[in-house]
Amino acid sequence: MQINSVLGPIDTKELGSVLMHEHVVCCDWSMRMAFRDKWFEYDKVVEIAVAQLKKAKEQYGITTVVDGTAVNLGRDIELIREVSEKSGVHMIASTGMYFNEEPYLMGKPIEYVTDLMLEECEKGIEGTGILPGIIKSATDVYGVTELNENLIYMASEIQKKTKLPVFAHSCSYKETGIQQLNEFERNGVDLSRVIIGHSGDSNDINYLEALLKRGCYIGMDRFGDDAKNSLENRVNTIYELCQRGWIHKMVLSHDFSAYIDWADHSWQKTKTADWLNLDVDYTYVHRRAIPLLLDKGLKQSDIDILIKDNPRNFFEGR
Ligand SMILES: [Zn+2]
Repeated sequence: MQINSVLGPIDTKELGSVLMHEHVVCCDWSMRMAFRDKWFEYDKVVEIAVAQLKKAKEQYGITTVVDGTAVNLGRDIELIREVSEKSGVHMIASTGMYFNEEPYLMGKPIEYVTDLMLEECEKGIEGTGILPGIIKSATDVYGVTELNENLIYMASEIQKKTKLPVFAHSCSYKETGIQQLNEFERNGVDLSRVIIGHSGDSNDINYLEALLKRGCYIGMDRFGDDAKNSLENRVNTIYELCQRGWIHKMVLSHDFSAYIDWADHSWQKTKTADWLNLDVDYTYVHRRAIPLLLDKGLKQSDIDILIKDNPRNFFEGR
């Protein structure tokens, strides 16, 4: 089956080892425009991202990265394409919006924004001809607000019309995944086409199984973010869910960005860091988490299910 990468259609057989939720860049376009090189340097960001992805490919065999950058997270489609070309890593781009209560969305008919997204799914993003391969949806600590309900409706309409699958950012400590699945179901979306992302922040087996029993996939996808959940807990929870028969419904990733301007990150810090030798980068799952899963008793064939088979099945709608 063919799906959309940023360099054109690829067969799902070619996906190989997949990181299901990462970013090349999350960086505010207004700040980029206002402060230029002080906030963001295009060529240097490309250099860093290409080097980090080449390392992931050459040392750990990672062949595909899904970029989860929604339109209002600073998606830069030309940059993603250039990084994919230069690194040799397949990249899948996202359409859709993050959960932010954006003033420019308030009071706007959701059909208006939905039509803009559908157009980029048909004709390409920003006139490039690059088609998105996945839909980003997001609900966070504020839950399903009036705007968020509309944004989930938009993601649902795009899903039904394009048949693209959905990655839904969730806030696991608020257990928003259940509400998100309720909304998608109400809107007529087949829940097997949905990943409830960031579920790996939770170790609550009851909550995670309540999601899985609805037929969705769950994203165990913030490896390296110890503030949200430790490596050991993340590994133990995956192992426990494998023991309970859910191995075919989990996908792994980091939610890493080569450059992100959030919180205490800054361009100066990123640029001057030892960015090819970070502890947390696109290789942490393979370097740190997989050895622990194998120690616990998973086999290499189980790891292949998590890293290769599940992403492929998800894209193929199986
Ligand atoms: Zn993300």
